[in-house]
Amino acid sequence: METRRLYYEDSHLKEFDAAVLSCQEGRDGWHIYLDATAFFPEGGGQAGDRGTLDGVQVLDTREVGGAVCHVTDSPLPVGKTVHGVLDWAFRFENMQGHSGEHIVSGLVFRRFGYANVGFHMGAEGIIVDFDGFISPEELGEIELAANAVIWENHPVRTLFPEPRELGNYSYRSKLDLTENVRLVEIEGVDLCACCAPHVKETGQVGLIRILDSIRRKDGVRIRMLAGSRALAHCLTESSQNSRISSLLSAKPGETADAVKRLMEDRDAISYRLGGFMRREAKRMGEDFSPAPFGLFFSEDFSDAEARILANTAGPKCEALCAVFFGGGDGRRYIIAAGPGGDVRGFTKDMNAALSGRGGGSAAMTNGSVKASEQEIRDYFGRYFHED
Ligand SMILES: [Zn+2]
Repeated sequence: METRRLYYEDSHLKEFDAAVLSCQEGRDGWHIYLDATAFFPEGGGQAGDRGTLDGVQVLDTREVGGAVCHVTDSPLPVGKTVHGVLDWAFRFENMQGHSGEHIVSGLVFRRFGYANVGFHMGAEGIIVDFDGFISPEELGEIELAANAVIWENHPVRTLFPEPRELGNYSYRSKLDLTENVRLVEIEGVDLCACCAPHVKETGQVGLIRILDSIRRKDGVRIRMLAGSRALAHCLTESSQNSRISSLLSAKPGETADAVKRLMEDRDAISYRLGGFMRREAKRMGEDFSPAPFGLFFSEDFSDAEARILANTAGPKCEALCAVFFGGGDGRRYIIAAGPGGDVRGFTKDMNAALSGRGGGSAAMTNGSVKASEQEIRDYFGRYFHED
């Protein structure tokens, strides 16, 4: 079965009529073959097209044994002439991305001689692997040069050279193929073997953004966006920056410095608060009068302050001093023994009574209980009354 590929004759064909040659039910939907199609099957890193055939949804398009398979959600009668309509926004975005990738790969090849050895267009952007390292500064220069190629609006052409002519061309992605080689030329920028439809002029790519890069083996992996997806990304980042700018009353170009100052302020406050809390814990311990046992609650204390309080008040207790800290159900505790005491037995009993866990040495235990302040107070009252 052979399909006439209308997208090779016109990469901007959005609607067409064609006859249904075959229709079979597959696992993922109905598989429909036509005598001609403008739907591009997945290939060369570009996703298969979506759209409709006589109103029936085309969920995906793929290459099957030299023919184009349309995966649909309903069957169509064999022999019928159907009207195909592409999801043009999706296809155009894919062409913007793919042509944008050719521009970047062409510029990288011309400047560094590195080959594109991996290419994927996904939800996180366009991923391109090069077989040599490019620094972030150099990628910034490539990004500028790629956008200049857009402004200069170079023509994009498709060439089908005869096998004997192939030697005359110097193109990227040199495959071992000698027949049916399709070359995509971006005039003055790139010549590359590729099976996908592309924009007609580089101006249609609109915008190229190189988002980030990571060193990978002996090369580099870059993440980029082109066209409307690049613009959408810039708008999202811009609106985030606008919000930060208004929240911090900083000019949009100075938000990073404003966030840095805010973090420095926060660190200074946190340092001063820590000192204050530790002094408060020590004071509480010092103010404590000798008693059979000590029992303290603080939602604000952390482990460090609870330990200071237990260590300061503990020696003044006949049995032990317990500090419960943090809020909610998972209340944490530190228990310090009075002079010469052992709190392990008590801790075990308390854990059993208050759904707790934890342990430690004779002089000090720590852990947590699932109990309210009142339940804890009641338990201590019972325990020390019975004794
Ligand atoms: Zn390509």
